[in-house]
Amino acid sequence: MTASLPARSTVAQLWQWAAQRALAADLPHQLRQRGASVLVPSLSTEGAAHRVQLVAGQVGGCDCEAGLHGRPCKHRAVVAVRLLERELGCRVTAVKAPAAVTRFLRSA
Ligand SMILES: [Zn+2]
Repeated sequence: MTASLPARSTVAQLWQWAAQRALAADLPHQLRQRGASVLVPSLSTEGAAHRVQLVAGQVGGCDCEAGLHGRPCKHRAVVAVRLLERELGCRVTAVKAPAAVTRFLRSA
């Protein structure tokens, strides 16, 4: 669990960028919870939504193409942002460190 491994840093940065893009699109305020999953509006397909699993209070898998391949996606990132907001008790407008979102990811 060192932060100095290049491969891990890159993936963590991808999560940070995914979270930033989701925030820029104002996704956090469009989330709907359905049982054990959260519906996140698709940014590429109008009216579509992706399903992100919630597992024991952490962000599980996403059913989008990137998510199915285990790659960082905006949908999982934005659910992590929402969990961060709940913890902080305030609105998050910027993700300044990858760990702010990656620590909410089940498999990261
Ligand atoms: Zn996704």
